[in-house]
Amino acid sequence: MVLPFKERLQAINPEFETFESLQTLQVNLGNLCNLHCSHCHVDASSSGAEIMGAEVMEQITLFLACHPTLTLDITGGCPEMNPNFRKFIERTGGLTPHRLLRSNLAIMAEPGWKWLPEFCRSHELTIIGSLPCYLEENVDHQRGDGVYQKSIQVLKRLNSLGYGSEVELNLVYNPGGDFVSGKQAELEVAYKEELSARHGIVFNHLFTITNAPIGRFREHLEADGTYTEYLRLLAGRFNPETAGNIMCRTLISVDWLGKVYNCDFNQALMMPVMADDGSEIFISELDERDIRGKKILLSQHCYCCTAGEGSSCTGALVG
Ligand code: SF4
Ligand code: SF4
Repeated sequence: MVLPFKERLQAINPEFETFESLQTLQVNLGNLCNLHCSHCHVDASSSGAEIMGAEVMEQITLFLACHPTLTLDITGGCPEMNPNFRKFIERTGGLTPHRLLRSNLAIMAEPGWKWLPEFCRSHELTIIGSLPCYLEENVDHQRGDGVYQKSIQVLKRLNSLGYGSEVELNLVYNPGGDFVSGKQAELEVAYKEELSARHGIVFNHLFTITNAPIGRFREHLEADGTYTEYLRLLAGRFNPETAGNIMCRTLISVDWLGKVYNCDFNQALMMPVMADDGSEIFISELDERDIRGKKILLSQHCYCCTAGEGSSCTGALVG
C-alpha cells in the first residue's frame, strides 16, 4: 500500500499543504493538438474540442492587468492552435514581465504555422519546447514518426532568430516510460553536448519533468499492469527536500472555461479549487486573498512532483 501523499507532506510540515502566494498564472488554451504523445496527461489530440474562447482570454487579461508581477505560463494541448492565440499574445503584451509559451515545437514546422517562430520572437515570448530526448528514435517513439526532425528544424530556426542567446529557449525532458529522471544538471550537459555536436543547436536550460500517472499515461500503465508499481516507485523516491517547493504553492492553473485549479494535473483530473461555500472558482472572480493559506487538493498523483529531485513545470525542485 502507498501511504496517502497528503499524510506524507503533512508529516514534514503542515504548511506545505497550503497555497503560499501567487507567482505564476498558468493558462491552458485547450486540448487541441497536432500530436498524440503516449505520455500526454491531458489526452490532447487533433480532435480536442475544449478550446478557450475570447471571453475567458479577456478575463485573464483583466486579471493580469490587476496583478502586474505575475508570470504568464501558456500551455495546452498545443496552445498555438487556439484560434485566438495571436490576439491573446497581443493583448497580454506589457501586462506581465514574463510570458512562457509551452510548445511541442513540431507545430512550428507544419504548413500554415511557419509564422510562429518570428511571431514569438517579436513578442519576446520565452519558449519552453518539448524534446523528450536528443535521440531521434526515442522522440519518435514517444511523439510519433517525423516529430524529431521537425523539432530540430524548428530549433535551428529559433536559434537563427536569437532564441537560446538573446531570448530564452528552454527544453523539456520527460522519461520515455515509467521511471524517474536522472539528475537535471547532468542531463542538461548531455543535451547541450549532443544537440550542439549533432545539429549546432543551443538552448538555455533543460527542465526534467516526471510523467504524471494520469490521463493517457495512466491508461498505458494500466494496460501494462504497472500502474501500482509506478506509484510505488514514485512514493519510494519521495524526497522531503522537495516538499516545500511543490509548484502548487505559488501557481494557479486556469482551464478553457476559466475555472481555477491548483495545477495542470489537477485540471486534467477535474479537481478544481473550491471556495469555502463549496462552489467552483473562476478567474473572473478570483481574489488571491481568498486562496492564500487555502489547502491544496492533493492525491496520489502528487508523488510525481516529489520523486528524486522533484518535478514542476519549470523542472527539478532541488538541484
Ligand atoms: S504531450 Fe503535449 S504535444 Fe503531446 S499530445 Fe499532449 S499536449 Fe500534445
Ligand atoms: S500534482 Fe499538482 S497539486 Fe499535486 S503536488 Fe504536484 S503540483 Fe501540487
